[in-house]
Amino acid sequence: MTTESAFTTARAQLRKAVDQLGLSENDWQTLSTPRRILEVAVPLRRDNDKVEMYKGYRVQYSTTRGPSKGGVRFHPDIDLEETVALAMLMTWKCALTNLPFGGAKGGIAVDVAQLSERENERLTRRYTSEILPIIGPERDIPAPDVGTDERNMAWMMDTYSVNAGFSVPGVVTGKPIVLGGSLGRTSATGDGVAISTREALRVRGIKPQGATVAIQGFGKVGYWAAVALEEMGLKVVAVSDVKGAVTGFKSIKELWDHFTAHHNLDAPGTDRLTNEELLHLEVDVLIPAALADAITEKTAHGIKAKIIVEGANAPTSPEGDAILNDKGILVVPDILANSGGVIVSYFEWVQDKQNYFWDSHEVKTNLTDIMMKAFSEVEDMAKSQSVTWREAAHMLGVSRVAQAHKLRGLYP
Ligand code: NAD
Repeated sequence: MTTESAFTTARAQLRKAVDQLGLSENDWQTLSTPRRILEVAVPLRRDNDKVEMYKGYRVQYSTTRGPSKGGVRFHPDIDLEETVALAMLMTWKCALTNLPFGGAKGGIAVDVAQLSERENERLTRRYTSEILPIIGPERDIPAPDVGTDERNMAWMMDTYSVNAGFSVPGVVTGKPIVLGGSLGRTSATGDGVAISTREALRVRGIKPQGATVAIQGFGKVGYWAAVALEEMGLKVVAVSDVKGAVTGFKSIKELWDHFTAHHNLDAPGTDRLTNEELLHLEVDVLIPAALADAITEKTAHGIKAKIIVEGANAPTSPEGDAILNDKGILVVPDILANSGGVIVSYFEWVQDKQNYFWDSHEVKTNLTDIMMKAFSEVEDMAKSQSVTWREAAHMLGVSRVAQAHKLRGLYP
């Protein structure tokens, strides 16, 4: 479904950046080829003793600027092409934010909702041991993504450490704090989405106080973005999950309390909307924070938001993007808007390397500094080159990777 499109989109975006930067065909060849792909079979003994086989992947798209870095997704729809696309996006994201990392992505095609906690643990540990030869704090550092969280990172860290014979906290980020995680990592992507939203409102001359937001996806990114935006004075008017959207809740905290207690969004006083109705609400800001291809040729025409801040990776198809541009909607692209997660993952990796841990003020200040710098570079590039923000962000990220290729040279 979304898979081929995320891959096609990512390649088309790269092609455009290569052309806009005036890079050569040799550059295109090196930039458009993933460096290492591992596909593994992951056997799982279910609690009823039945053995099932799952497909797992780890793609290291680039290691030119440092060890590769990227999340681990557990979702039934993932396949190799989508994993390559997401690893490619991670590469430009790390370069755009000037982190000393390449890009990676991995995952298992599995519906975690069907697994018990013990099954999830066994699957995570076996996946870790299958990809163990190519990961490590100096090689490739996984993190949580859709369908995984800090529990999975704890199991990955433990599996790697048991095999190494000593504790290696820096092999993954997004770990629990007691295992060497960083303060602020859980909320980092959402915090970064909120910073991006505040800056985009400034560019459009809209005051944050009372500005309205609709958020598609109420997971790690959507929830924390909603919390941070409410703190900034914005009004979150609708959110959705895979089952549909709701509006009419009093506050995100009240909705979250209901959600954690009842596993649904139907808090007292809420009204149901379809996911498409959420996308088409008359709001200042729309935040897609679920999966790829939420905004397509089919859904883009009806969008009335003035600003779109892409919390999810690749939520907009090229056709959808063209429609948004024609409508004059400011789109803050994924590789900028959701970079807060990898930025604080970088802080976690640095802290693990130094065995010296920062307070939350230091994390937040450094996160804000890096995001603001990337934001103003994208804003300036978009203005000076008369390109969209997405094109500007890709041009910045791709040009830094191309420059690193040139300076390192081609071996042998
Ligand atoms: P998550 O699994 O915590 O949450 C995903 C949310 O999306 C859930 O609320 C789910 O119900 C909802 N959802 C799934 N399908 C949907 C649909 N068709 N319509 C509406 N909602 C739907 O995942 P997450 O970590 O929040 O990641 C969300 C997106 O953000 C992904 O694209 C991910 O790659 C990207 N991202 C995540 C991070 C991170 O740090 N977690 C960092 C950067 C980018």
